[in-house]
This record gives sequence, structure tokens and C-alpha cells, in this order.
Amino acid sequence: MSVDVAAVRAVAVSKWYGGGQTRVIALDEVSAEFGKGRFTAIMGPSGSGKSTLLHCLAGLDRPTDGSVYLGDVELGKLPERQLTHLRRDRIGFVFQAFNLVPTLTALENITLPLDLAGRKPDQDWLTTVVDTIGLADRLGHKPSELSGGQQQRVACARALISKPEVVFADEPTGNLDSRSSADVLGFLQRSVREFDQTVVMVTHDPTAASYAHRVLFLADGRLESELQDPTAETVLDTMKQLDAAVAG
Ligand code: ADP
Repeated sequence: MSVDVAAVRAVAVSKWYGGGQTRVIALDEVSAEFGKGRFTAIMGPSGSGKSTLLHCLAGLDRPTDGSVYLGDVELGKLPERQLTHLRRDRIGFVFQAFNLVPTLTALENITLPLDLAGRKPDQDWLTTVVDTIGLADRLGHKPSELSGGQQQRVACARALISKPEVVFADEPTGNLDSRSSADVLGFLQRSVREFDQTVVMVTHDPTAASYAHRVLFLADGRLESELQDPTAETVLDTMKQLDAAVAG
């Protein structure tokens, strides 16, 4: 395997729902590479295909056409059982709604993916991750005893604990105030800088997108634009230009 292989790659990925008159094209031949140790944001208006793309990249959904590769593995070639194992072992997820198990403590939630896989946590790595999220004194608490921002930091730690090749985050700050958002985004950014983690994040927030190395813009299921080293201002400008192009 070449060391230059992208962490994730979409090749002419299309996804449509239904057929005939009611067919909805959610993704229309989207191709994109997500390099190792890179933080990419995916933006676009509601209904532009962001979630569908994230789900196809993460092996949660199968494209109608085209291919998705994790490293050099083509996901579409895997039977469901192998795909499930690959998701568990090689991919981390952070969802808008945190999705923590309410009856488990923060620590038990963080180590849950390893417990399910019958693996023991690497203690040094667990300590590193727990220190980085800054919740060492809250590990015995249940999710209901934590703020939204703290719960999302636990969810980020859970996503990182198995050292996945990619972390996919779907609107991770959608339910958070600006201060908690900054904590969570700062944590994702540190995981990229310090642990060489690859992160792909869907967001509608230009400030959240500015934490990424690169922003991809979707419109009507197509990749319309791309921005390197974004700032909140350049993201907003690009969004306005795309809106104007659609309106015009
Ligand atoms: P976004 O995340 O950018 O809001 P989505 O990926 O959720 O966009 O949706 C893209 C398009 O596909 C939308 O038109 C949406 O209505 C449609 N779509 C998504 N999921 C389904 C589904 N399960 N059945 C039918 N249409 C769907």
C-alpha cells in the first residue's frame, strides 16, 4: 500500500432515492479525497447532500453508483458484516445529538467501542484522550449530569479511543452554545494537529468550518467549490457567491 493513499476517497459517488417522477438525486457524481491528518468541513444549503455524502463516506449508507475507499479498501465490495466490523474498528463518529448511553458513566461511554469489540483500552492513550477533553474529574458522571458541551467532548473521546483512521462528525456543534462549540472544535483540531487524526465534519456554521484545513461546498448534490485555509469571513463570502449563482 502506498503511503500517499488518502484516508478516504469518493470516486464519482451518486445516490438517488426513489424512481421515475419522484426520483431525488441526493448526490451527483461527487469525487473528493480526504488526506491523512487533514481536517475537512463539508458545507452547503439544507438538502444539498451533506449528510448523504458523510453517510456514504462512513459506510453507513451505500452509494447508488461510484465507489468509496477507506485507505485501499473499497467499501462497496464488502459484505454487510465486514462493513460493520470496519466501521467499528476503523471509523469514529460524532453526532449532533451526542448519542451517549444514558445508563453508563462518561468513562464507560468512552471505552464502549473497545468493550463491544472485546478489546482493552490502551491506558496511556485513554489518559491522553481524557486529559485532552479536560474532563478527568467528571469520568464517573452519567450523561444527564453533564452539560451539552461536556457530553459532546465525551462523544469525541469515544470516537477517538479506538484510534480510528477517520472521525466523521455530523453537525457536532449543532446543539451547543458558542463557548461549548469552541471547546469541541478545538478538541477536534488538536486531535488533527497532535495525533495526526483525519476528521471530516458536516457543518452549516462558518465559524465551525474555519477550524478545518479545507471546506468543500455542496449544492444540489454536486461539489460546487472548495476553500483552503478558511476563515469565517472567506467561508461566508463563498456561501454568498454560491447563493447568488443559484439565484442567478
Ligand atoms: P443535507 O444534509 O445537505 O441537508 P441530505 O443529504 O440530508 O442533505 O439530503 C439530500 C437530498 O436527498 C434531499 O433532497 C433529501 O430530501 C433527500 N433524501 C435524503 N435522504 C432521503 C431518503 N431516505 N429518502 C428520500 N430522499 C432522501
